[in-house]
Amino acid sequence: MKKRFKGAKKQQKKLALDEIVVVLNKAKDVFDEKPDLAHKYAKKARRIALKYKIKLPLKLKRRICKNCHSFLVPGKNLRVRTRKGHVVYYCLECKKFMRIGYK
Ligand SMILES: [Zn+2]
Repeated sequence: MKKRFKGAKKQQKKLALDEIVVVLNKAKDVFDEKPDLAHKYAKKARRIALKYKIKLPLKLKRRICKNCHSFLVPGKNLRVRTRKGHVVYYCLECKKFMRIGYK
C-alpha cells in the first residue's frame, strides 16, 4: 500500500468532490432563472474534476453533457430513455446522445 503519499491526495480529492457537489447544487438552483449561469457552473464543476482527475459518480456525471458540457436537468433539457437494459441520455442543448454506464 502506498499509504504515505496517498493520504493527502485522497483528502484533496474528497474536498474537490465536495466542491463539485456544491457547484452543481448551485447550478440546479439557478437553472430555471439563469440557465446560462447553470451551464457555467457545470463547466466549473467539470474543470475541478479534470484538475483533480476525479471520476464523477454516475448521478453527477449525467448532470453535465459530455459533448457541450451544459448543465442537464432531466425533463427540461435532458431526455432519459432506457433501452434494452442500458440508459441513453439525449441532450437537448447540443442534440446529442450520450450513453452513460454502458459498455
Ligand atoms: Zn450537450
